[in-house]
Amino acid sequence: VRVELVTVGDELLLGDTINGNAAWLGRTLAGHGIEVTRSVVVADQQDEIIQAVQEALGRADAVITTGGLGPTYDDLTRDALAVAAGVPLTRDPELERRLRERAVAMDRPFVPMVLRMAEVPEGARQLPNPAGTAPGLRITLPGGPVYALPGIPSEMRALVEAEVLPLLLRDAPAGVPMARRILRTAGVWESVVAARLAPVEALDGVRLAYLPDSGEIRVRITATGPDASIVLAAAEEQARELLGHAVYGSGDETLDRVVHRLLAERNATVGTAESLTGGLIGAELTAMPGSSATYAGGVVAYATPLKTALLGVSAALLADGGAVQAQVAAEMAAGVRERLGATYGLAVTGVAGPEPQDGHPVGTVHIAVAGPDGRPQTVSPALPGTGSGERRRVQIRRLTVVHALDLLRRIILGLDVESSWRDDREDREASS
Ligand code: ATP
Repeated sequence: VRVELVTVGDELLLGDTINGNAAWLGRTLAGHGIEVTRSVVVADQQDEIIQAVQEALGRADAVITTGGLGPTYDDLTRDALAVAAGVPLTRDPELERRLRERAVAMDRPFVPMVLRMAEVPEGARQLPNPAGTAPGLRITLPGGPVYALPGIPSEMRALVEAEVLPLLLRDAPAGVPMARRILRTAGVWESVVAARLAPVEALDGVRLAYLPDSGEIRVRITATGPDASIVLAAAEEQARELLGHAVYGSGDETLDRVVHRLLAERNATVGTAESLTGGLIGAELTAMPGSSATYAGGVVAYATPLKTALLGVSAALLADGGAVQAQVAAEMAAGVRERLGATYGLAVTGVAGPEPQDGHPVGTVHIAVAGPDGRPQTVSPALPGTGSGERRRVQIRRLTVVHALDLLRRIILGLDVESSWRDDREDREASS
C-alpha cells in the first residue's frame, strides 16, 4: 500500500511544533512494509485540507491526516472531509454523552463548543481512541480511504496501533516479503562503515542505508525477496563480522542502555566526572528507569580548582599544563571512582569552544575510564565538529558523550582500546 500523509496545523508551518507525527508515521508504517510516498503540511484552512487530501488520493492508495479534530473553530479537518465527501456532519448522541460525562468527571464546565467533537461526517466510521475521547475517523472519498487522526502525538500513535494499521494491512495486497534490521555503531566514521560493508551491499536482495547522528551511525539492512528473513540473517552476520567491536547494539538498543546492561550483568556501577559536558553524561546514564542500579552519581567539576577540591586532581599538574590534558582526565576518573565508591570512573575534559583554551584547539577532548584494576585508560579523540559557534559547541559536547559512553563500553568488555582507536584512525586515513 502506498500512503500519503497530510499533517494539519499552522503551528507546524510556523515551526512552533516539530512534525513528529509525520516522522513517527513514516517510521512505523515502513516497519510494517507500508510505504509513505509523500507527506505535506497544510494550514488550518478547510479548502487547503480538502485540496491536499484530494491530490494525495490521486496518487496514493490511502491518506492519513493528523490534527484539526479538536473542538475549536480552527479545527477544520472533519468539516473538510465532510465537504470533500459531499455529506453533512451529524451529531453522534453516544459521543456527546461521553464528552458530557468527561466534563463532569474532570469537574469542568461543559462548553458547547466541545460538541463539535461529537460531529461525524455521515457514513464515516469512527475509530475508537484508546488514549483520549475524540475518535479518529475513516471516511471513503472518491479516490480511496482517508484516516483522520488527532494531532496529539500520544492519541495519534495509540489510534494507529489499535485501529489504522490493522485496516491498512487488511487492505494491502500481498507484496514482496521484506525484512529489516538496524545495527548501531559508535565512534567510527560513516565512510569507514560504508567501506567495510561494501561486500554486504553487493549481496543480492540486500540494501543498506546509513543513518548518522552525532558520533553514531545506524546501519539499516533491508532484505527483500521470498527468503527475506534468511537473507537478512546472513547479511547481519556478515556485517557484524566486518564491523567488529564498532557495533554496540541493534534495533532500539541505545548506547546508554547497552552500558547499563553491561554494568548490571557484572553487578558494577559507574561514577562520572565531567568538565566540558557539564553533566550531559550523567543525564544520559540516568535517562532510563532502573538506572540507579548502575549509576552511582557524578561530579561536574567545571572550574579548574574544583578538579582538585572535589576529585583530587594534582594541583601541580593543573598549574603546569592546565585542565585540558589526558593526565587530568585520568586523575578525574580515578578520583571520582574512589570518592564515589564506584566500580568504574568515567571522566571527560576538553574544549567545546567557541574559543580555543590554553592553546588547545576547539574539539580537543580527553576521555578516561578508571576500572577495577585502578589503572586509568585514556583516549584523546579530536572531535572538531562542524559549523561554528553555539551549534558546533552543542555538537562537540554530544560527540563527547557518545565517545565517552563507547569507551566505557569497550573497557567493560575488555576490548583493546588503544588498537581499536588506532584501527579507526587508519581506516579514516585509508578512506579519505
Ligand atoms: P485536540 O483535540 O487537542 O484539539 P487536534 O486533533 O485538534 O487535537 P491539534 O489541535 O491540531 O490536534 O494539535 C494538538 C496538539 O498536538 C498540538 O498543539 C501539538 O502540540 C500536537 N501536534 C499536532 N500536530 C502535530 C504533529 N504533526 N507532530 C507533532 N505534534 C503535533
